[in-house]
Amino acid sequence: MNYINVNKELFSFLDQSPNAFFAVKNMCDILEQAGMVRLYEGEPWDLEAGKGYYVTRNDSALIAFRIPKADYTGFQIMASHCDSPVFKIKTNTEITVDRQYVKLNVEKYGGMLCSPWLDRPLSVAGRVVLRTEEGIETRLVNIDRDLLIIPNLAIHMNRQVNDGYKFNAQVDMLPLFCEKGEESDVFLKLIASEAGVSAEDILDTDLFLYNRMPAVSLGLNNEFISSGRLDDLQCAFASLKGFVEASPKNSAAVHCVFDNEEVGSGTKQGAASTFLKDTLRRINSAMGRTEEEYLMSIASSFLVSADNAHAVHPNHTDKADPTNRPYLNKGIVIKYSANQKYTTDAVSGAIMRAICRQADVPCQTFANRSDLPGGSTLGNISQSQVALNTVDIGLPQLAMHSPYETAGAKDTAYLIEAAKVLFSSSVEGRGNGNYRLVF
Ligand code: ZN
Repeated sequence: MNYINVNKELFSFLDQSPNAFFAVKNMCDILEQAGMVRLYEGEPWDLEAGKGYYVTRNDSALIAFRIPKADYTGFQIMASHCDSPVFKIKTNTEITVDRQYVKLNVEKYGGMLCSPWLDRPLSVAGRVVLRTEEGIETRLVNIDRDLLIIPNLAIHMNRQVNDGYKFNAQVDMLPLFCEKGEESDVFLKLIASEAGVSAEDILDTDLFLYNRMPAVSLGLNNEFISSGRLDDLQCAFASLKGFVEASPKNSAAVHCVFDNEEVGSGTKQGAASTFLKDTLRRINSAMGRTEEEYLMSIASSFLVSADNAHAVHPNHTDKADPTNRPYLNKGIVIKYSANQKYTTDAVSGAIMRAICRQADVPCQTFANRSDLPGGSTLGNISQSQVALNTVDIGLPQLAMHSPYETAGAKDTAYLIEAAKVLFSSSVEGRGNGNYRLVF
């Protein structure tokens, strides 16, 4: 696979997806172009074998699936997330300073690296909810220009800053918006005019800052890529491409992208919700299958929880485990954790290695240093709703949770190939540790 062309598409997806709402909208467009049929949770589902469908929840989570035949053996699922740590615009956001400036009141969404948000052009995107004759309507808004900046304090006023600095989100992280003029509510008016309505029609908003720097390739031979939101839109994009290009045979293919992973997944559109379970059950009943057939199909299913992984950092090599050391461009990272923060075990790890071998792509392994707690992801959280063999993987990256992260130029293409194999294959088992892998 030509990874340069893959990255062109990836970059355009990243640049056009400043947050979860836009990522889901752009995935819908790609699925629509691929001939998939849109379903709504609030309407009946009339499904046909051989076809592909997709459904969204809250406009910020998405599940797409393809049913090869009515007597499919199980589900081959890849789950990723489309939210990233970011600053959210608070209600009543304008703060006037000395009757001269207007800055915006924001708060943290998730755990980000604060310092790289400073001193760079930012803007705002998200959704507005409008008053209509019949009720309410949601519209996406992106102020597509350099609009805001969070200026650093000069070193002359904080001589110790390079010895470490504790960022206070209520003091240090508020973006400068404009000079104070005669008019009031200028921010809301800007958002309203972008949405094509008047400010009085806006009942509420979910708006977030984003970094204006587009995705780029860099390095001597363009071997690296940098962008905002690589965690986890890189995996979401690879899963989507693999899903569209796969040929499901015995199992149904399920491309699943959750919201709110960065804040614990506990929302109706997060991995702890019933979204995946509801969707799989509705597929089961729409295909005329019994409850027992549902449970049998779950025993013959496989879930790949795809969320980016930490590569060895060139300046901090000692932060990585001594024997499990992922590098950029060296392939898919299988993540292990004895306390099961990552769901990988010997069975799911073995199945994932077989998938990578079949796809002819490299894989490597990650474990936290035994004296570091590390992060967690959505794989183990979704088990409380749908319990099945699950592996935790990711693509290797640096600077996770910065608004500008760095990854390998080749790795997205590797995950697309592995996703294609996953979505075209089946993992048939009875639950006793022996599985037939049908590629
Ligand atoms: Zn992530």
